[in-house]
Amino acid sequence: MPHSDASSLLDAACAMLWTPTALTARQAMKGASGRKPCSLLIRGGIVIPAPDDVDSLIEDGAVCALGDRIVAVGSFGQLLREYAPELVCGSDKHLVIPGLVNAHDHVRAPSTRQLGVHDDVLEAWIVDLLRLPRVDPRIASTLACCRLLRSGVTTVVNSFYEGSGERYENILADTVAGCERSGVRTLMSLSVLDQGIVAELLGNVLPHLPESMRNCVREILNARDPIATSDYFDIVRNWRAASPSGRTLFMMGPVSVHWCSDGLLQAIWEQARALDLPIQTHLLESPYQRDRASTRYGRSVIQYMSEAGLLSSRLSCVHCVHVTQADIELLAGAGVSVIHCASSNQRLNNGTAPVSRMLKTGVNVGLGLDSLTINDDDDMFEEMRQVARVSAGGERRLVRVRTGAALQMATVNGARALGMMNDIGTLEVGKKADIITVKLSEDPALEHGQFPGSDIGVGIGSDTGTGIDSVSLDRIVNRARKSDVDTVVVDGEIVVDDGRNRHIDEQALLDELHEALARETRRRSQNDATIAGLKSYVHALLERRSQTASMT
Ligand SMILES: [Zn+2]
Repeated sequence: MPHSDASSLLDAACAMLWTPTALTARQAMKGASGRKPCSLLIRGGIVIPAPDDVDSLIEDGAVCALGDRIVAVGSFGQLLREYAPELVCGSDKHLVIPGLVNAHDHVRAPSTRQLGVHDDVLEAWIVDLLRLPRVDPRIASTLACCRLLRSGVTTVVNSFYEGSGERYENILADTVAGCERSGVRTLMSLSVLDQGIVAELLGNVLPHLPESMRNCVREILNARDPIATSDYFDIVRNWRAASPSGRTLFMMGPVSVHWCSDGLLQAIWEQARALDLPIQTHLLESPYQRDRASTRYGRSVIQYMSEAGLLSSRLSCVHCVHVTQADIELLAGAGVSVIHCASSNQRLNNGTAPVSRMLKTGVNVGLGLDSLTINDDDDMFEEMRQVARVSAGGERRLVRVRTGAALQMATVNGARALGMMNDIGTLEVGKKADIITVKLSEDPALEHGQFPGSDIGVGIGSDTGTGIDSVSLDRIVNRARKSDVDTVVVDGEIVVDDGRNRHIDEQALLDELHEALARETRRRSQNDATIAGLKSYVHALLERRSQTASMT
């Protein structure tokens, strides 16, 4: 049982004062003399300050914040004697952990599936995205970020892309405003390419289409007007210091190394070094990308990147499903991070990334929802379970990622991948107060978690075996759900309380979205049926490509 090391008198006082969760029940503690100032104290029956060091676990602990920074982490009783909190939340029935880092997402609401684009092989799915209706980016990004916050995400990378160069900056402005409004910390990965995959795929299927479909496809190809690279670099320079609340940061985002020319890649890396920005790119997500890259480069794309000086700790690569052991060693040696998207890889039939081997080789692996979670619900806890269970990467002998490693991926590893270890990822004095509380299960059968003598962790990672540490990890990674998230604090501010965003009426936004989509549906393009029909031709193209690849 969690216990407090405070005096029994103090315990009795706390029992009267501290009612779990509801903000209205929290007691203001202003004016207490002789104690240090603290704007927020968060109590947990179990506090895990550093998921990469399970020995740091504190029973009946607390975290104190002053403004946007953490000023103390320790036992609840001790901190209560030292600090005079203005506000208290949490209880001995909560777990307290660092805010979760969703290191790759597209911040989509509604989801693609909700808008009628169903899961398929990646390349066919990408073509089908042409049918997506336009959704007001302010509403979409606010709603998507609210969903993520309720899942315990305090930092998200929004891989932002707008296909029209003319609209790019306006849509970016609306998206940033929507993210800021939700209260989440966002890294906007500003995407760019100059050798687009849609144009390539459509160009390749065009000769195989019946005449009745060709005009529509030509129209789509002619209408494509991606942002000019010179405009892109202007936008990066202008926007990098433009966060109204300080919660929006920027990074550079070549959509994928495969879809950028050598010249564009060099220019991006040069600019990122000059502006000291991180870079994120999709890489080796599908068999098609692997085959196309090896045709283009005559060697593995990661080998090419190594020789071109593109591998560094500034870079995080998303997916990396089709990597060889030699590729993994190059990534590890250069300090490149990988962002693993377990659900997305399953939903788009891309295969299983060899995460176990990456961790074993020393690659820093973070976790990304990619706006495609297995249950379409942005549940970070379910995603940790996906990571822990689907990580063998095609190896016949099952080598699972340990539960502790899955939690590290969702916190410290994500922070490291984004170059933000000084600010987020763990609960340490001086870092940003990005903190979440998770309700401990009230189900008596689950309350006990693991039974004595059993070993939870089997595989790669850092679980210590049996005992309280593994039991706590088990509660988070193997049993918790998004709905168990109670309080979410970003920059020392309570953004989600009792599972609800304090600033946003999500239902009102959803109603607005429904009305807008109903109007949009009436205007939907006549081309939609043709686009839906293109998928079978993309499948045939992939089939031809894989046969050619298997013969060479
Ligand atoms: Zn993505």
